[in-house]
Amino acid sequence: MLFFIFTTGICNLRCDYCGGSFSERMVPAKPVYDMGSLLKFLEDTYPVSIAFYGGEPLLNAKFISAFMDRFDAERYIIQTNGLLIDRLDPAYWRRMDTILLSIDGVEYVTDKHRGIGVYDTVVRSARKLRLIGFEGDLVARMTATEDTDIYRDVYHLVELNLFDHIHWQLNVVWSPPWSNFEEWCRSYLDGLVRLLDLWVYKMEDEGRVLGIAPFQGCLKRILLGGSAPPCGAGVDAYAISTDGSILACPIAVDVEWGRLGDIRLDRFGELKKAPEIGEPCTSCIEFRVCGGRCLYAYMERLWGLEGFRKVCSITLSMISLLKSRLDTIIDSLESHGLSLDDITYPLFNNSVEIIP
Ligand code: SF4
Ligand code: SF4
Repeated sequence: MLFFIFTTGICNLRCDYCGGSFSERMVPAKPVYDMGSLLKFLEDTYPVSIAFYGGEPLLNAKFISAFMDRFDAERYIIQTNGLLIDRLDPAYWRRMDTILLSIDGVEYVTDKHRGIGVYDTVVRSARKLRLIGFEGDLVARMTATEDTDIYRDVYHLVELNLFDHIHWQLNVVWSPPWSNFEEWCRSYLDGLVRLLDLWVYKMEDEGRVLGIAPFQGCLKRILLGGSAPPCGAGVDAYAISTDGSILACPIAVDVEWGRLGDIRLDRFGELKKAPEIGEPCTSCIEFRVCGGRCLYAYMERLWGLEGFRKVCSITLSMISLLKSRLDTIIDSLESHGLSLDDITYPLFNNSVEIIP
C-alpha cells in the first residue's frame, strides 16, 4: 500500500502547470493533525510505502525527518522540485528508495515552465544526491507540454547519465486545451517511434535497458496486467492531506468523490470506496494495459469527452507500438542473458503513474 503524505500545501515555485501553492483552505501549509494520529492510522495498514508530497515537501523537511524517526516504512519515496535538498540531512536521503525530481528535459523547456535557473539547480541536486550516498532510484519526472519534443527531451535526460529512470506525464488534466493538440500529437508519436527505436536498439546491440519508465511500465502491464487505474489511486494508493483527510489521489483535493475519510476518525477498513473506472474504459480494447490511465482525468474530464478521446488515441498508439516490438524485445533480452525482470518497472508502486 502506498500513501502520499502532504507535508505542506505550499510550493516555492509557480510552475505554469499547476500554479504553485494550494490555497490554505484546501490544503493547509502544515499538518494540522498530530503525528500520533497519523502513525496510528498507518500502523493499521502496515506494510506501507510512504511518498512525501506537497506543495514542495522539503518546505517542511522537519516533518519528514520527525516522521522517518518514528515510522519504519517498507519504502520511502519523495516527489520534489529539487531546489531545497539541503534542508534534509543526508542520512534521510540515503533511506529513500525513490526520489523523483521534476525536470522537463532541455534547459529551455524546463526553465520556461518552472522558472529561470531551475534546470541548473535540479541537475546540481541530482549530482549532489549521488555524492551524499543516495543509491536508490533517481527518477526525472517530466511534464510534457506543447514545447516538449519527446525524443529530444527524454534523450537529453538519458545523456545526462544522472537518472535511473525518466518518466513523463502529459499536461492534459488541468491545463486549458492546447492550441494545436492534434498537430503536437503527430509530432509526439513520431518522437515516440524514434525513442522506441533507440530503446530497442540499445537492448539489441548492447543489452542495455534505458530507464524509460512509460515503456517499461506499459510493457509490464502488457505482460502482467495490473490495477485500474495504473497509478493505483483508490486501489492501493491513497493520499493524506495536511488537514488529515484521506484522498483517493493526491490531486483530488478539490472534489467530493476524492475524499474518503480522515486519519483521526476512520480506520483504513472504514474508508469510503473510491470511484471505479467504468465506461468507456471497461469496453476499451486496451483496458487491461491502460487501466483508464488516470482516475482524476477519468472522473473530471476537463477537456470533455472529445478531449478525453484524443488523449486515449495517443495512449492506444503507444501501446500498439510497444506490442509491435514485443518479439524483438524478448529476443534481445534472451540474447543478452537478461530476463523480463530486468526490464519491467516499477518493481513496487513508487508513484510513477506508468501511462503518460
Ligand atoms: S485508452 Fe482511453 S478508453 Fe481506453 S482504457 Fe485508456 S483511458 Fe480508457
Ligand atoms: S495518474 Fe491521475 S489518478 Fe493517478 S495519482 Fe496521478 S493524477 Fe491521481
